[in-house]
Amino acid sequence: VGGHPKPQAEPLRPAGVKKIIAIGSGKGGVGKSTVSANLAVALAKQGRKVGLLDADIYGPSQPRMMGASGRPGSPDGKIIEPLTAHGVTLMSIGLMVEERKAVVWRGPMLMGAMQQMLGQVNWGELDVLLIDLPPGTGDVQLTLCTKAEMDGVIVVSTPQDVALIDARKALDMFETMKTPVLGLIENMSFFTCPDCGSSHEIFGNGGVADEAKEMGVPLLGTLPIDLETRLAGDAGTPIAAGEGPMAQAYARIAEGLVA
Ligand code: ADP
Repeated sequence: VGGHPKPQAEPLRPAGVKKIIAIGSGKGGVGKSTVSANLAVALAKQGRKVGLLDADIYGPSQPRMMGASGRPGSPDGKIIEPLTAHGVTLMSIGLMVEERKAVVWRGPMLMGAMQQMLGQVNWGELDVLLIDLPPGTGDVQLTLCTKAEMDGVIVVSTPQDVALIDARKALDMFETMKTPVLGLIENMSFFTCPDCGSSHEIFGNGGVADEAKEMGVPLLGTLPIDLETRLAGDAGTPIAAGEGPMAQAYARIAEGLVA
């Protein structure tokens, strides 16, 4: 750690990691990081050995969402020791830079940083490593698609047209890169009024399901706009760590991911 990470040529898949699943989106703000954190926690609760790599280099939110602070140590200056939170082995570019500092790296440096996150972090034995991607179709995604030997990617979108249009572009990139699309997750699908119980489709409806059908990939889940989910994320204890209906919804999605 420290200094500028240098790009490396060789493909990287941490030796003890059985499966790598990335979580992407077309746009920011659709809940990709929230879904990543909660799926990681849900998988850990099901007894899986889970790692979560926050690769959202421009807006790393996992340290906050997972309630992890402190800096990962590197006793020998080479191998980086990740943190653990809610039973999940966690590493984030956000743990390496100060929270208020912007990351202004160019492509080759980003590639070096990503390779360092995969190759130099002591991930140990993992059933699955989830990677929270940056939104869109940039250098980090391309690097990971070509070098990380990912088993698949999940794309999160809201039902809103502007989100879906960009989600399609992300899906197109993953198809082009031959990274299998495991399925789509519709987040912020509807809002149920806690006072009267009526349901409101604030960002529209059905778009993500239609897209999944068109692409011939599963719709893995449909998650509502939920105040508790937001509060839990802000508090650093993902909602999936609890027992309520949202935790059950994440548990159902998680069950299908790792056979
Ligand atoms: P992204 O990773 O796509 O940029 P985030 O996961 O950071 O999105 O989510 C953006 C904001 O929306 C966060 O404040 C998060 O707590 C909130 N959020 C995400 N999903 C939900 C949801 N289903 N219900 C309510 N708030 C949500």
